[in-house]
Amino acid sequence: WRSLCGNIGYGDKSYTPNGFNKSFGGITVNLASFKANGDSTKNGLDLLRGPDGQLPQKLRNIDPRLIEQISNEIMDCNAKVCWDDIAGLHHAKKCVNEMVIWPLLRPDIFKGCRSPGRGLLLFGPPGTGKTMIGKAIAGESKATFFYISASSITSKWVGEGEKLVRALFGVARCHQPAVIFVDEIDSLLSKRDSNSEHAASRPIKTQFLIEMDGFNSGNEQILLIGATNRPQALDEAARRRLTKGFYIPLPSAEARAWIVRNLLNKDGLFKLSTEDIDTICKLTDGSDMTNLVKDASMGPIREILEQGAEITNLKMEDMRSVTLQDFKDALQEVRTSVSQNELGKYEEWNNQFGSLS
Ligand code: ADP
Repeated sequence: WRSLCGNIGYGDKSYTPNGFNKSFGGITVNLASFKANGDSTKNGLDLLRGPDGQLPQKLRNIDPRLIEQISNEIMDCNAKVCWDDIAGLHHAKKCVNEMVIWPLLRPDIFKGCRSPGRGLLLFGPPGTGKTMIGKAIAGESKATFFYISASSITSKWVGEGEKLVRALFGVARCHQPAVIFVDEIDSLLSKRDSNSEHAASRPIKTQFLIEMDGFNSGNEQILLIGATNRPQALDEAARRRLTKGFYIPLPSAEARAWIVRNLLNKDGLFKLSTEDIDTICKLTDGSDMTNLVKDASMGPIREILEQGAEITNLKMEDMRSVTLQDFKDALQEVRTSVSQNELGKYEEWNNQFGSLS
């Protein structure tokens, strides 16, 4: 087992309904089945230990508590999103396939002058599918997905951000191929860290850049994806390391219709006519469609409660379906537009630094 563990991170990996199979030197082990097969005491940390109770060499100097938190809270071995779940964005998907997914699937082919960048920046207005693309990259390339929002590094792991970053990359090294997705990356790698307000995050930023240099220069199968609504705030050193920058624009009318239909369908709430959907598409420009759908789907509940019904006695069959009017009401509450000025800034930045034309 020890020699097999020595290989951890380099084996072939495939997913099963119960977790994922990892093959070590020809022997396939279902890692999640450690849990499923009765040893419920095994957590993310235990799964990384060898029979002698030792962690892989790569994790020996890292706080086990952080490894455990990362394994349990940040890591997702079973990213299920695929390209078909994402509406529109055909050009971005095509480029991501070629520049990111193929190299993760076939590192033996994509080496030398074909070797890919290890850092990708997804930028654009909020709620346009950047996180979904990150998950789809992990899903399509059968990689382990690590999701962290930059603000949580400073708020949730107060005083431990630097150690957390080291642990995050350490655990990812043991679960290759791995995709590390950092949401709001601008707040971690921003230009403005010279004033005292941002001074506390400086060591985290330095650690981040060190880790990125580490895997950029090696043969590791790790991809870092940063997502931001404010690409202009990114520090030059970070931008250079995120070698590809993809603009994820607002969804087209067709994609907006798809998102509304899909979200409502998931909960069996879709009863809108084609004309209603067309009207919703005309009333929105595509920013944060999910929040709009969520708010609209509350309409029937709000209405029936206003009429005096009790939430505890509410029967599903007594509730009407979601209507166009619910969307119109939700539009009063939810901001679903981005100003031309903001869009212009994204386009300008894209022209200067983006990788998609
Ligand atoms: P971002 O990371 O850009 O802020 P997300 O990827 O978190 O946005 O998207 C938020 C939600 O919006 C998703 O969970 C999904 O339901 C919906 N959504 C946004 N864009 C798309 C898209 N292109 N296709 C399908 N769903 C989308």
